[in-house]
Amino acid sequence: MFPLRSNRVALRFGDHTLTHAELAACAGALARRLHGLPRVAVWATPTIETCVGVVAALLAGVPAVPLNPKVGERELAHIVADSAPAAVLAAPGTPLPEGLHQVPREDVTLDGDDAAGFTDPGDEAPALIVYTSGTTGSPKGVVLPRRAIVSTLDAVAQAWQWTDEDVLVHALPLFHVHGLILGVLGPLRRGGTLHHLGKFSTEQVARALSGDGTMMFGVPTMYHRVAEEVGDNPELAEALRRARLLVSGSAALPVRDHERIAAATGQRVVERYGMTETLMNTSVRADGDRRPGAVGVPLPGVEVRLVDDSGAELDDTGAVGEIQVRGPNLFTEYLNRPDATAEAFADGWFRTGDVGTRDADGYYRIVGRKATDIIKSGGYKIGAGEIENALLEHPAVAEAAVTGEPDDDLGERIVAWVVPAGAAPSADELAGHVARLLTPHKRPRVVRFVESLPRNDMGKVMKRALRT
Ligand code: ATP
Ligand code: MG
Repeated sequence: MFPLRSNRVALRFGDHTLTHAELAACAGALARRLHGLPRVAVWATPTIETCVGVVAALLAGVPAVPLNPKVGERELAHIVADSAPAAVLAAPGTPLPEGLHQVPREDVTLDGDDAAGFTDPGDEAPALIVYTSGTTGSPKGVVLPRRAIVSTLDAVAQAWQWTDEDVLVHALPLFHVHGLILGVLGPLRRGGTLHHLGKFSTEQVARALSGDGTMMFGVPTMYHRVAEEVGDNPELAEALRRARLLVSGSAALPVRDHERIAAATGQRVVERYGMTETLMNTSVRADGDRRPGAVGVPLPGVEVRLVDDSGAELDDTGAVGEIQVRGPNLFTEYLNRPDATAEAFADGWFRTGDVGTRDADGYYRIVGRKATDIIKSGGYKIGAGEIENALLEHPAVAEAAVTGEPDDDLGERIVAWVVPAGAAPSADELAGHVARLLTPHKRPRVVRFVESLPRNDMGKVMKRALRT
C-alpha cells in the first residue's frame, strides 16, 4: 500500500517527526503484536501515534476502527458493541473513557524497530471501518477494503498532480475519511509529507504554507475563517498565494468564501466531493477550471450518473437528480447492516442521497441532500444550498442555513436560519434580497436569527437539530 522506504519526512506533528523508513520500523513492530487480531480500534487523537497505529493495523492486515476522542458515552457504546474491537490502540498516557475499559489497551510507541514484510491480505480485505459523520442519522460503520483506499488515493493524486515532493498541511481530525484517508494515508502512499497543525488557526496555516507546505486540505468552516481574515492579513494572503493547491471538501464551500479568498490571493480553492461510503467521487482538477460552487468532474475510474425519482437516468444539462456512483472507490458494506447495505444500492450503483446537476462540460454541482436540503414548496423543488449562497452575499449575514417546514398552503415553507454579522437585518430585507438574486418563490418565508448554527466535528450544519 505504501512505499515506506525513503528518508524523507513522512509525518510531522509539532516537534514530532518520522521519516517513511522510521514509520515502517515502528509501525512494523506494532503490527507484529497486532497480527491475527480480528479487529482493533484506534483512539484517534490528532497525534503521530494515531497515524502509527493505523499504519500498523494496515501492515498487520487487521481492520481498524478510528474513534473520535470526543465521542459521547452512548455513541461510543454503540460503536464498541457494533465493531467489537479486540484491542484499542492509544498513545501512552492518554486517558481512555470508561466505555473502553473492557477492551484491552495496546500502547502505540515510536521506538519499535521491525520493518519486516507481512503477507498481503488481498485487495478486498477490510482495511478500515469508518463511521459516517452522523449528519442525517446515527453513524453507520462503513467497511472499506484496501482496493477502495488505494484507488481513491491514486485517482486524486492524478487529479491534483500530487507527488512525493508535496508537503500537505492540514488540521483535520483523524477519525474520518477526509483527515485520515486523504490526509494521512495520501502522503504515505505518495511518499510525500504530512504536516499536521494540531489545532486549526490561520496563523499556523500561514506559517506552514510560507515554510515548505505545498498543499492544504480543509473543511469549509476553515476556509471561512481564512476568507474572513485574508483581506487584512498580508502574511496569510502571501502564504496562500504561494501554495500549489488548496482543497476543500466534506461540505459545500460557500461561493462567497471561494471568491473572497481568490480576490485576496489569486488562489482558487479546488473543491472535491466524497463520502465515507464512496471515498472520492469528483474533483476539480489541479489543471482544470476552478469554478466556484462546482465539485468538478468524476475522478479517474469513477462513474457518476444522475437519476430521477423513478430511477431513470438524466442526461440533460442542468437536470436535477440523485447522484449515483459506481467504481473501485466504493465500500463493501455497512457493518452489521445488511438491510441498509441493500437499500443503498440500485443495480450496482451506490445511491449517495445527494442531489446534483451537471454543467454542459461535465462539471457537477451539489444541490443538497435529498433528506434535508430539498424543499418542496408551492409545487417547486428548491435546493437549500442555492438560497444559502444567496443569503451569504448579503453583507449583514455571517452564516446561513436553509430548511423546510410544513406549511398548509405551500406544502413546505422555506425557513432561513441566519447568524447576523453585526446588527441583524430585517426578515423582509433578506427575503427581498433572495427574491432579487434568485426568483421570488425561492425567498424565505420565515427568518430566524440565531447566535450560531449547530455543527458537527467536520463543521457540517446538523439540520435535524435546527428545529424550534
Ligand atoms: P451521515 O451519513 O451519518 O448522515 P455524512 O453523510 O455527513 O453523515 P460523510 O460520509 O462524512 O457523512 O459525508 C458525506 C456527505 O458530505 C456527502 O454525502 C455530501 O452530502 C457531503 N459533501 C461532501 N463533500 C461535499 C462537497 N464538496 N459539497 C457538498 N457536499 C459535500
Ligand atoms: Mg452520509
